[in-house]
Amino acid sequence: MSAGRSAAPARGQWAFHDGAFVPAAEVRLGPGLQALQYGTGVFEGIRAYAAGPDTSHLYRARDHFSRMISSAALLRIAVGPSADELVEITTELLRRNGHTGDAYVRPLAYKTALEPGVPFGVRLQGVSSSLTVVSLPMGSYVPKEGISCGVSSWRRIPDSSLPARAKITGAYANNALATDEATQAGYDDAVFLNQAGHVAEASTANVFLVRAGRVATPSHASDILEGITRDSVISLLRRDEGVEVEQRTVLRSELGTADEIFLTGTGCEIVPVTSMDGRPVGSGAPGPVTRRVMDAYERAVRARDPRTAEWLTPVHRTAVRL
Ligand code: PMP
Repeated sequence: MSAGRSAAPARGQWAFHDGAFVPAAEVRLGPGLQALQYGTGVFEGIRAYAAGPDTSHLYRARDHFSRMISSAALLRIAVGPSADELVEITTELLRRNGHTGDAYVRPLAYKTALEPGVPFGVRLQGVSSSLTVVSLPMGSYVPKEGISCGVSSWRRIPDSSLPARAKITGAYANNALATDEATQAGYDDAVFLNQAGHVAEASTANVFLVRAGRVATPSHASDILEGITRDSVISLLRRDEGVEVEQRTVLRSELGTADEIFLTGTGCEIVPVTSMDGRPVGSGAPGPVTRRVMDAYERAVRARDPRTAEWLTPVHRTAVRL
């Protein structure tokens, strides 16, 4: 389930790098970069949604930056700006880049080099860090009529080895292995089990199941990234339908007996899973709960739901030429 493109900015775009707005093409990172060698970086993916010809809204940007700051703390990376300051920086970045449609923001905080006098080695203390934020135009890229998933033979990295709840760059080799296997087998995406053999999450999305009107998703103790879209869906279902999502251990066999399965993530948004391990899910078409969640989410991100206005940060675009 990939965007079919990299999260690299096009030529002529601005980046925020180490405290200043600079042309993205001028950001040069060398082979000695610690994050490149050991995977010691943290990142986020944030979407902005067009809401008129000159305005868009960042969706839950503050929550994404708070998660990035806590992921960073685990790796002893001092991000610098606060979550609120990062929202302001991002608003300015989008404004400068003058995107006219939906956009995607990729902030990265990462270890750069050993400080003078610090002995060579894989370490977290005594290593400098950097912050880079880029943005690029990006619309929906996952088919909303449904995708196929297969359970991966790769297990999700356990919390006791590398916590999935922190969005650590190096950990995404685990996700890449699962995606590679799934797409080679002809599926659109992979569903990970954790070390206990219970459902964890998809390659870059959380998993929800509907069975006999009850909705469940793997709990925070199932080796998942606690997705912001997952949290949005839990609140929207509670508010709109009075449905309390069960956050619990989800057994693999439940994937085979669910009436509906859907994935949630900033990138994929809400996507129905209509085939699981080569078998149709329910009727093989997106189910009613999934459709209602897709509609409610679309209204929230497109600023058509006044009750979720607090999730949105307005961006007024006026491109600044390089
Ligand atoms: N799990 C993983 C492994 C992910 O990479 C993502 C995407 N950030 C998600 C879940 C969904 O998280 P969110 O809704 O915050 O984008």
